[in-house]
Amino acid sequence: MESLSQRVNALSPSATIAMNQRSRDLRAKGVDVINMGVGEPDFNTPDHIKEAAKKAIDDNFSFYPPVAGYPDLKKAIVSKFKRENDLDFTPEQILVSSGAKHSLANALMAIIDKGDEVIIPAPYWVSYLELVKLCEGKPVVIEAKFENDFKITPAQLQNAITPKTKAFMICSPSNPSGAVYSKDELKAFAGILLKHERIITLSDEIYEHINFVGRHESLAQFPALKERVVVINGVSKAYAMTGWRIGYMGAPLWITKACDKLQGQMTTGACTIAQKAAVAALTMEQQCVEDMREAFYRRKVLMVKLVRDIEGLKVYDPEGSFYVFPLVTYYLGKSVNGRTINNTTDLCLYLLEEAHISTVPGEAFGDPDCIRISFANSDENLIEAMRRMKEALGRMK
Ligand code: PMP
Ligand code: GLU
Repeated sequence: MESLSQRVNALSPSATIAMNQRSRDLRAKGVDVINMGVGEPDFNTPDHIKEAAKKAIDDNFSFYPPVAGYPDLKKAIVSKFKRENDLDFTPEQILVSSGAKHSLANALMAIIDKGDEVIIPAPYWVSYLELVKLCEGKPVVIEAKFENDFKITPAQLQNAITPKTKAFMICSPSNPSGAVYSKDELKAFAGILLKHERIITLSDEIYEHINFVGRHESLAQFPALKERVVVINGVSKAYAMTGWRIGYMGAPLWITKACDKLQGQMTTGACTIAQKAAVAALTMEQQCVEDMREAFYRRKVLMVKLVRDIEGLKVYDPEGSFYVFPLVTYYLGKSVNGRTINNTTDLCLYLLEEAHISTVPGEAFGDPDCIRISFANSDENLIEAMRRMKEALGRMK
């Protein structure tokens, strides 16, 4: 007899991972699917990083690591925060985890009790809501729509705060919208947050380096807030290392300590070989990061042009990350081959089955008017995918 916990029964599967699996399954059947569903750089991990991992194997880094991460990696992260963000952390404030997703899970598990409210701007990354639910917290979603360039206003944040608010989650550059908050915009949020001592901000900065408008800005830079911000980052996106599973947090010491305790019971720490690779990523040449950013910028320009060329689609020109999140309401309610497309899930399934391109429904990100298309793909594939999309959408009546 199956008797799963309520915790797991209440959890929705990750839509990004589900879409990735669907396109893998179709590919395994020989279908030429262009995968624009999952968000990961299409580049190989740079060679000098791979070499560091090979050396780590030869040097027998095969024993359990310290739970919070190797000292040299924590030192490299402290230097990274100083060099790139002008943030001061001590090594004790750093915790290395198995991906930024795990860092987020740790942080939420450390601070959220049953019924605590967590403010999440929509569109949000798929896992935020589910992780909050897993911690028995209550997600309080505030909507940043297409019309507002997918950014929430200070008034929206202010109005969402109640005595039960425990955390505020922010992702800039944003997955899925590509919106990037400026320093002034963050300053306005900081002005509100500093009046509420209990609220911890989880600042997801995993797309820091995929920024097309200038310097990355973090809410942790405002001294009055520093003790209440958990900065989440990792090597997945900047260094094309999604499969290595290394993420990290820089946090107030009491939060890092709590996460260390959790991790000590749950994983014993992140993979040793991957940690050594991450040291190389953070301390060796950084030109690879800039080269990939430039490639993403070029593809963004191409992608926005291709999407704008499709009748009825409206698209915000992303300032960062590698997604476009076009408004598709023009097509909702239309039919094709006797099938009515009622929502973005129907639309993405239609596009996958008929045009063989995988995208992710906006519903999964809390915005049922849009779909997410990753442009972390070759120019050739982007052109072909948008040709297929234009043709498939053109058949809808
Ligand atoms: N945050 C956001 C917004 C992301 O898009 C991702 C990528 N899946 C993550 C966190 C987690 O990244 P990872 O676990 O690969 O470090
Ligand atoms: N960041 C990616 C995405 O949003 C990876 C998938 C995941 O980790 O859920 O598609």
